[in-house]
Amino acid sequence: MVKCANCSKEAVVRLSYNKTDLCGNCFCDLFENRVKSANRDFKLITLNQKVGVGVSGGKDSAALLYVLSHIVKNIHGTTLIPILIDEGISGYRDQAILKARELCDSLDLQLRIFSYKDGFKLSMDEIMKMKKANPTGGYERSCTYCGVFRKTLLNKAALELGCDTLAIGHNADDIAQTFLMNLLHNEPDRLKRFDVINDEVEGFVPRIKPLIYNLEKEAALYCELKELPYHRGECPYSNESFRGEIKNFLNGLEQKFPGVKFNLLRSYLAMRKELEKASNFERMFPNGEGFEDMEMFIKAVGMADPSLKIAGFSDDAPSKSKNEYSNDTEPQISGSKHDLSHKISFKKSTASKYQKCKNCGQNSSTGLCKACSFIESINEKRNSANGDLNKPKRAKSAMKK
Ligand code: SF4
Ligand code: ZN
Repeated sequence: MVKCANCSKEAVVRLSYNKTDLCGNCFCDLFENRVKSANRDFKLITLNQKVGVGVSGGKDSAALLYVLSHIVKNIHGTTLIPILIDEGISGYRDQAILKARELCDSLDLQLRIFSYKDGFKLSMDEIMKMKKANPTGGYERSCTYCGVFRKTLLNKAALELGCDTLAIGHNADDIAQTFLMNLLHNEPDRLKRFDVINDEVEGFVPRIKPLIYNLEKEAALYCELKELPYHRGECPYSNESFRGEIKNFLNGLEQKFPGVKFNLLRSYLAMRKELEKASNFERMFPNGEGFEDMEMFIKAVGMADPSLKIAGFSDDAPSKSKNEYSNDTEPQISGSKHDLSHKISFKKSTASKYQKCKNCGQNSSTGLCKACSFIESINEKRNSANGDLNKPKRAKSAMKK
């Protein structure tokens, strides 16, 4: 019998990233303590708060809601409101809703449901049906629409319910995936905005991620051990997501090299610290343009924090001495010269003052929020497809005459 490293009872799980065997009770304690640590480290939930909890019926949000329901008992005046967003995916979300209801009932919490159909007059099933009927119509990936709609509706719901903050079930896997996706998409601005607790911005309920120190499979195991109801099915449209690719990639890596996901999380958290220091950039470039080019970036980094090393960049610009770009006198990556030129352009920061979406009134960085612009473009595609369908018929009948 393999013994628990903590209490010597029979172990039920091996944490391969730190070679530790744990029994069910000790594992659940660890899982809960990590949520408490995240709460302490990032000051996520405080006194007298109305905390919206995004629930989906899946394992992450089930574990989140269950652990938070116990934690808030010791936080004076703080209450939870579970919020579920129904995308309108038959055979999937409708099943998950049953599980979410079951869990909420057992915790004596009232589940609030908001649907795409009510919010946007379109369900995901309808959008995917249109896309299937018109595959060359220039539709986005399912998860691109769905992610924007969910975020928008969740925020609307939290505002409507008067929530001070919104807890979501993002775990260490999600953080590692998002970190990597933003790197691979060259999205420094998103990377900057992405945080364990989002800043308070007028019109947006701050979102918190109390599961950041737990892995996805640990959330599933926690649900199993606590016998929490959760839906095991997979979204039929998930195969279209870039995140899905990254998820599979990281899962494969984690199997071969246990600990890579937590290492990505650590790197992300370390980078956050450096970004905080470097946020002096913004004051140096008050119009919020971001970094015009590599030269500006390196100068800004050097001036914001002389000890900050940007590996490999210090000897990139041939026309200037490397000391002008960094305090390091030696190149930081050995080997051949890198072909990164100082002409590399960074995506411009989109950070700007918010205005109201002319359609739905939500705060948005442009005149039309992303969700409304998607709806507009889907409706245009639908109308033009209907027009195309009608045209040949009219032409045919005209020919008959
Ligand atoms: Fe929406 Fe994509 Fe998630 Fe399915 S997998 S619910 S389409 S975001
Ligand atoms: Zn134990």
